[in-house]
Amino acid sequence: MRDVVRFINPYDPGLFPEDFPDKEVVNLSSNENPYEPSEEVREAYLRAVKYIPRYPKADYARLKKALAEYTGFEVENIAVGCGASELISCICNVLLEELDRVVIPMPSYTLYSIYAMLRSASISFPVFEGYRVDPDVIAEERPKLVFLCSPNNPTGNSLSREIVQKVAESAEYVVLDEAYVEFSDDSKIEMVRDYNNLIVLRSFSKFFGLAGMRVGYAVCSAEIAEAIEKVRLPFGISYPAVETAIAALNSLDYYKKVRDRIVRERERLIEKLKEIEWLEVYPSDANFVLVKANKEGVVEKLAEKGFIVRDASVMGLEGLYIRITVGKREDNDRLIEALREI
Ligand SMILES: *Cc1c(COP(=O)(O)O)cnc(C)c1O
Repeated sequence: MRDVVRFINPYDPGLFPEDFPDKEVVNLSSNENPYEPSEEVREAYLRAVKYIPRYPKADYARLKKALAEYTGFEVENIAVGCGASELISCICNVLLEELDRVVIPMPSYTLYSIYAMLRSASISFPVFEGYRVDPDVIAEERPKLVFLCSPNNPTGNSLSREIVQKVAESAEYVVLDEAYVEFSDDSKIEMVRDYNNLIVLRSFSKFFGLAGMRVGYAVCSAEIAEAIEKVRLPFGISYPAVETAIAALNSLDYYKKVRDRIVRERERLIEKLKEIEWLEVYPSDANFVLVKANKEGVVEKLAEKGFIVRDASVMGLEGLYIRITVGKREDNDRLIEALREI
């Protein structure tokens, strides 16, 4: 086995409802969308059942065409993958040679480091004052690849255009992970037109609520998109996944309404959380809220009360940080009650 594999900690997905077989639990840990799929998505899924025995067409031309219309980019600028997760792996595979410098500002999504490590890259994990990315410090590292995330998981804050621009001007390649961007309306995707080293990652898992379907896409230069397409799994996105993703793009009005509900609920949840004196609550542009708990064992105590939240220390935050997904109104209210009882 390769030595590097021994150094990689497995991706930690946190607790899942399946870990509590005898209990009714609410999962506020994985930033899933708590609402039902649109009628159109549901029908597309059922129609796709008869294609289960078949391989999907490996060029995913229909999905890419729908994404081109949705994003305003050309089909050539789009690569698709089995979730944004597969694209992170593909990007590392096509860009990184051994010991290439990779910068991952912390705290951030843990998957970047796993795939960069597998390429035997030389990775630095700078932690900035107030977790605000400092592009000048990144530039000093002369990076081959920088992973940025906006809104950032787990802090929930967005990067400014200026910061992304500065990083794009100093690094050879930049990934800008916009898995949560639809909750913020602050996308930098148009910058791909000016920076051919910028790769914007998107996912169907959060805003479109298709986490179980596994569909993601990258918007980038035609050259990078073509390279990613060469190395991704040929049939990684299943037929039902393709059909539900296209149907989701066709029911945008529904998902925008769902989004508005989540955003309103997020602000309400933040206000309620602030009333709990042992919590420090951070603002969020995503569908989750980061809190610092000035009390031990909160994750475990909430689990006993039927709520799974994410311990954010695994994502590079030192201390008792917890990431809470914005749930449905009644679940958020019950969560607040459970927190008050602790
Ligand atoms: C959830 C998430 C993804 C991955 O999404 P998939 O499309 O489900 O693989 C990527 N990046 C960040 C920051 C995420 O939180």
